[in-house]
Order: sequence, then structure tokens, then C-alpha cells
Amino acid sequence: MQKVGIVGGGQLGRMLIQAGLDLDLRLRVLDSAPDSPCSGIAHEFVLGSVREADTIERFTEGLDLLTIELEAVSVEGLRRAQAKGITVHPEPAIVELIQDKGKQRAWYAAKGFPGPKFQIWSPGDPITLSFPLIQKSLKGGYDGKGVQVASSFGDLWQIPSLLEEKVSIQKEISIIAARSRSGAICTFPPVESVFHPHAHIVEYLRIPADLPPEAAIEGRQIVTELAESLGIVGLLAVELFYTVEGHWLVNEAAPRPHNTGHVTVKACWTSQFEQHWRAILGLPLGDTRLHTYGGLVNILGPAGLHGTPLFPFLPTILSIPGVSVHLYGKKRSSPFRKLGHILVLAETPELLSEKIHRIQSCLRVEIGTE
Ligand code: ADP
Repeated sequence: MQKVGIVGGGQLGRMLIQAGLDLDLRLRVLDSAPDSPCSGIAHEFVLGSVREADTIERFTEGLDLLTIELEAVSVEGLRRAQAKGITVHPEPAIVELIQDKGKQRAWYAAKGFPGPKFQIWSPGDPITLSFPLIQKSLKGGYDGKGVQVASSFGDLWQIPSLLEEKVSIQKEISIIAARSRSGAICTFPPVESVFHPHAHIVEYLRIPADLPPEAAIEGRQIVTELAESLGIVGLLAVELFYTVEGHWLVNEAAPRPHNTGHVTVKACWTSQFEQHWRAILGLPLGDTRLHTYGGLVNILGPAGLHGTPLFPFLPTILSIPGVSVHLYGKKRSSPFRKLGHILVLAETPELLSEKIHRIQSCLRVEIGTE
């Protein structure tokens, strides 16, 4: 039985555990929150900071393999685990590159991947792009936090940051690739994200994305090349913009399972979580074909919910054919916190849209996510 460590105990770790049990892995998880989604379900749950090298080093004692479920971890800790002979996927150097949006963007540009015009800027530097532009903090942003549209110089945060031209986005797409230890690469079909109009959080998503067939092929090709260039082992979830003009631009990547990949659990022959294990354990990659149309609606938290949330909408939603609910076991809620998601399957894109809208209206009425 392989002893595997996961750094981070959130919902992605929870779903990695669910898939890892099928492979009879022995799973140890590190997280600083005693009530995190992995506590209570990992074979061993270790309380400690994922940002401390010493903590990660101690956590990895006796493990065969180490992986992550978020990238904001101590890279030094991952390196020390590697130095002790533990196999670490993804490579610490890839995690380090991806942690910094500026370095990541510059790397894509240097390798010739398409992206928006950009500038790595520090207060006092002249600005080479025209307004309005997008300003991104270099580290620590997620779900749109740390990103703003700046219409004029006065709007800019006076911090070192990545500035990008504001591109005209037709669709926000993510494509998840897996690269195995042997170097084989396989991509999942593109997923289309539709965002909440105010909070920058995915409201629902659908697979396959509604794209011209040749665009889907081209997008998957770009992501395959990116996984190859990085030499990653494991999943690489790439967020792309499909522009109004019909061009692909790489936004950013995550070296781990991704929230937009949950839909693969029910809609594809192999889920992203199983694929991650296959890739990092050196097993053959699974078939990523779709067997149906799939969608996901996030269950976003209302304010002030404590204790295990009771979801009064469940019976109504679960009476819709092809619907399943996935709750993350979070004990506290705050506005727009992801508490779970609903997966929905349908035979046609039209039926899928109809079911997604039914689910959304149930959620709005019952927990007031608007
Ligand atoms: P996060 O890591 O917080 O998700 P992103 O880099 O994905 O940050 O940016 C958040 C959102 O901002 C994107 O999903 C997109 O809607 C918008 N955005 C980001 N970069 C650009 C850009 N260059 N042009 C236009 N919109 C952008």
C-alpha cells in the first residue's frame, strides 16, 4: 500500500481522497484548519501550516509520494521532502513558477504561448499599456481576489503587480491536461465557465464548452504543448480566454485538480481526480471522453450559517433526473463561500441548459445567493 501525502485539506483534497481510496492508497493530509473538508476522512489528518517548510518536512516522514491540492504552499518544504527521497509531483519548481502570476506570464510569453500584452510593474515605473487595463497582484490571488480593472492611473494599487491589456473575452474556458510519469499527455474536453455578475466566482459551468470544433482542438493542442513544455507530472488545469475574435489566450494554470474539473466526475469516462493519481503513480492515463453533456452549479454560502448546514433545497433539486449533490463538509459559511456543488447530466445541450436554470432558481429561492 502506497503512503501518500496531500498538502492542503480543502474540497479538492477531499475528492482526491475519494478517488485515492479506490486505488487503496494510504492517505495523510496536512491542513491548518481542524474542521477542513479532509478532516475526519483522511487516514491521518495532520494539523499544521502548509506554508511552513518545517511543518511540511515533518509531515512527509515515512511517505512514498507527496502531492498538493493548492499551490500556495511552501516550495521549500516540497524541496526538502524531495531531498529526503520522497517522490514529489508536481515538481516544486513548477509550483514556484505558478505561485507568481508575473513569472508565470513571462514564462508563457518566452515559450511563445499566446497571451494578453503585459507588463510586470512596480510603483514608479512608466506604464507601457493603455487604460483600461487589468491589474493583478503577483501572489496570493484566487477567485478574482487580487485582480481589478484599472480605468486610469489613479485606480492602480501601488504594489508590484502584473498589468495586462484588457482583452475582449467571448468565453472563459478551462482545459485540464494530465501528464504521466512516462510523458504521455491527455486532455479533458474544454469546460466553459459562466461567472456570477458581481462576485467573481463561477456560477455554473458546462462540458463540453460551446465552441467551434476546430477551436476546441486548437485549445487542447495549446494545453498539451504547455503541459509538455512545463514537463509537469500530474494535472495541469489551464484557464484560457477565447476572444471575441476567436483567438485563444492563456490566462493562468494550476498544477492540481481544478474546480472546473468536477464535472468530469460524472460526465467523463475518467475523472480528473482518478487521472491525477494515475499520472503521479505512473499508471496509464484514463480515457477522458465524455459520455454525456454535463454541468455544475456551485452552492454558494449565505452569510452567518454555522454548524453543518441543512440544505432545504436538496429534495427539490435531487428530484431532477441526472442530478447529484456534492457537499464539502464545511462547517461555516460566508457570502459566496463554496459549500458544495451540484452536478447535472443531460442528453442534449438544450436539456442541460434547462436543468441548470431550474437548479439555479431553486438555489436562489432557498438560500438567496443573489
Ligand atoms: P484569479 O486567479 O483570481 O481567478 P484571474 O487571473 O483568473 O484571477 O482573473 C480573474 C478574472 O478577471 C478572469 O476570470 C477574467 O474574467 C478577468 N481577467 C483576467 N485577466 C484579464 C484580461 N487580461 N483581460 C480581461 N479580463 C481579464
